[in-house]
Amino acid sequence: MPVLDTAALLHWPVEKIAGNLVANSQMTELENLSPERAMLVEALDLRWESPDTKDAEIAAAKTGDLPRLSPVDLDVIAIAINSNEILYTDDYSMQNVCRFLGLEFQPVFNQKSKKQWFWQLKCIGCRATKEIEIEKEETCEICGSPMKVKKARR
Ligand SMILES: [Zn+2]
Repeated sequence: MPVLDTAALLHWPVEKIAGNLVANSQMTELENLSPERAMLVEALDLRWESPDTKDAEIAAAKTGDLPRLSPVDLDVIAIAINSNEILYTDDYSMQNVCRFLGLEFQPVFNQKSKKQWFWQLKCIGCRATKEIEIEKEETCEICGSPMKVKKARR
């Protein structure tokens, strides 16, 4: 049974939603977004979980996606980690963390993102670049100038 993000809960037909894995925190999110939809989804037979998000947070910190992920997003990723089931999401940051962890994911509507985001350091002096996995400051090994963190694609 796949893991569904909130976009799927909002927009998919109910027969496609039933029986899947979701986070308890998504119900609150759904209630805020659409009370009618929340009532409908509540009546479905879903597996509601409240996972430990530690591994999801560590992975998201490594890819640099943590600032763009909500506590609900992290719950959903954590469920995907625990269950090792396909995650349905259109959120690029969530997809990026899945890719980093080797977890399978599918889009809810949009096309799958093809590229992995990474952090890159760029020297403000000589413009040398260096790939890093965790966001951190460094000085350039070539010229000694400070290096600035920027997001890069690979
Ligand atoms: Zn330099």
